[in-house]
Amino acid sequence: MSWTDPRGDIEALLPQLRQIRRDIHKHPELGFEEIRTQALCRAWLEARGYAPRVCAETGLIADLDPEARGPVIALRADLDCLPMHEPTDIAHRSVHPGKAHKCGHDGHTAILLGVADLLARYRGEVGGNVRLLFQPAEEGVRGGGATSLPGATGATKMSMPPSLMSMRGAPATIERMISAPNMRW
Ligand SMILES: [Zn+2]
Repeated sequence: MSWTDPRGDIEALLPQLRQIRRDIHKHPELGFEEIRTQALCRAWLEARGYAPRVCAETGLIADLDPEARGPVIALRADLDCLPMHEPTDIAHRSVHPGKAHKCGHDGHTAILLGVADLLARYRGEVGGNVRLLFQPAEEGVRGGGATSLPGATGATKMSMPPSLMSMRGAPATIERMISAPNMRW
């Protein structure tokens, strides 16, 4: 397992990520109410050496290497659910009536946590900072969490297109992870 071929790392992470995705799915939270999801992400990040800070009320920002000079790559995931019912009988269906992850944000968040883990393992080999953005309220509550992100994250100083990348434009290793066939869960 290595930074240039992390397939073994990814494979080993998948059961945990699947569990997290289902846990978030089961406990959906609307925009700016993502307290539980935020705590889950914070604990995961801290356990891997990040020092996440709160942004936009219920969001988080975590830098892989805050001291690094040069370009910064930002990766973003969204935390909130939709105000919808989930009439399914899956084991991890929503336990909150009228709230459900129907837009995939549970998957986005789990993927970014997986990327955070992988980056932390190979921190010394990345050669720059990667800023992880866990954005609240993507679905537009009170104007949406994205409106508070640029100021809170210093995004204007990042060498990136004006619109923050979601999961595109990542280094090849991360892209490989995101597009791994087993990530379809
Ligand atoms: Zn969405």
